[in-house]
Amino acid sequence: MKLILLGPPGAGKGTQAADVVDRYNIPHISTGDIFRKNLREETPLGKKAKEYMDKGELVPDEVTIAMVEDLLKDMDSYMLDGFPRTVAQAEALDKFLSARNEKLDVALCINADYSLLVKRIVGRRMCKDCSQTYHTEFHPPKKDGVCDKCGGQLYQRDDDKEETVQKRLDEYESKTKPLIEYYEKKNILKNVDGSRSVEEVSKDIFKILDEC
Ligand code: ADP
Ligand code: AMP
Repeated sequence: MKLILLGPPGAGKGTQAADVVDRYNIPHISTGDIFRKNLREETPLGKKAKEYMDKGELVPDEVTIAMVEDLLKDMDSYMLDGFPRTVAQAEALDKFLSARNEKLDVALCINADYSLLVKRIVGRRMCKDCSQTYHTEFHPPKKDGVCDKCGGQLYQRDDDKEETVQKRLDEYESKTKPLIEYYEKKNILKNVDGSRSVEEVSKDIFKILDEC
């Protein structure tokens, strides 16, 4: 199965991805997580990505596309979270897949209202070791500041601070939202209302994926 998760920052893509991985046993590829890992390890890719991530901007297409294609070349099943994020990335992915006689099975779009997205992003805390996501109010860890899953330390992403959030939501509106129509035209788009509880959203997603 090959699927992509679309939707604005804070919609719940990473949260749902964790449940999808558990149920369907497919690799979760989050371009944001990969950039953050490179950033922590201070690789050339991480240094390049940081220039953009700190400002809430998208990393340039050529950098992102090359990174993803390199990863996907030996995989036949995956869930892409946060890629594609521009029409150029979506076209590059299509070209990459059709050259291999492959195609996407489904594009899941998770959405929620603007004010809820801001609340979710600002309260998000992430494990520095395993990237598991928590929320100060909606999904607090059992022990303050510590990951339930692996015991790693939780932190607030720099780009989750209020001053960067608006820019990220603007980037979504102008560059990523057109992908909804892009995948609608390909007849593989499935919309999911992400404003409900994690369990309710998962239920919808499982129903869609069970039919794939
Ligand atoms: P995305 O990957 O789309 O940016 P996340 O999955 O990281 O979003 O979720 C953003 C924040 O909202 C996290 O703090 C997460 O714990 C919380 N969250 C995600 N889904 C829900 C939900 N259905 N209800 C309440 N909080 C949620
Ligand atoms: P995320 O973890 O998905 O919220 O992504 C965090 C940041 O990483 C984004 O704000 C971008 O700066 C960068 N990023 C992640 N995925 C992409 C992508 N597909 N294209 C460009 N930039 C990306």
